[in-house]
Amino acid sequence: MIFEILTLFPEFFSSPLKQSVVGKAIVKGIIQVTAHNLRDFTLDKHKTTDDSPYGGGHGMVMKVEPMARAIEALKAGRPDATVVMTTPQGERFTQKTAAEFASLPALIIICGRYEGYDERIRAFADREVSVGDYVLSGGEIPALAIVDAVARLVPGVLGEPGSSESDSFSAGLLEYPQYTRPEEFRGMTVPEVLLSGNHASIEKWRRREALKRTFQKRPDLIPLADLTDEDRAFIEELKRGKV
Ligand code: SAM
Repeated sequence: MIFEILTLFPEFFSSPLKQSVVGKAIVKGIIQVTAHNLRDFTLDKHKTTDDSPYGGGHGMVMKVEPMARAIEALKAGRPDATVVMTTPQGERFTQKTAAEFASLPALIIICGRYEGYDERIRAFADREVSVGDYVLSGGEIPALAIVDAVARLVPGVLGEPGSSESDSFSAGLLEYPQYTRPEEFRGMTVPEVLLSGNHASIEKWRRREALKRTFQKRPDLIPLADLTDEDRAFIEELKRGKV
């Protein structure tokens, strides 16, 4: 899968893209990530990418011409690419969006700065995506979050196939609690069932813990989750405070 990032700060990406899961996926050639400098698509000698807003007000606004030129140049090389604009005004980026993006051949991710974009830049975007209800100084951190979350779902990127399937949100629930050695730490012990070697009991315990945890921490996710009759009966017990 191909990720093309349009940014004023391409060097922002150099270290994060060398690390861990994403770094290894790039080295293996499973994904390709390129950060392009928006200034390379300007035509004036000062390489201007922003200007003051019409109507007055503080801050600068990203100009439409360099952005349009850059998107068109990248699209010429990858006509099948989906253009994703990072913006706090966009649809919420979720695990579902990540899975959807992972099935696409290429993403062009555009990073805003300053007070944001000239409104006409929106005409060049296929999707507008927000990483949460807060305002960051630029689209680089959202772009990295998108690359990381999407790359994990590209086949071959995670060592063990299926290891993202139990991650929080993948099945609409938060992940069950995890433990590793030692068996006891300062009086806190690992639940017996995980030491039992009984895979059916472990699966049942994990499912119930995922349901319980989601019910307690993110009850808003429960109505959207894919639940069995047994899950629903367990939720009823949780509501009655029986477990
Ligand atoms: N004035 C803009 C507004 O109120 O919508 C915010 C501009 S913000 C300071 C600069 C850039 O950071 C945005 O254009 C966008 O690329 C990025 N950004 C900031 N917060 C974001 C968020 N929650 N999700 C995605 N991108 C964000």
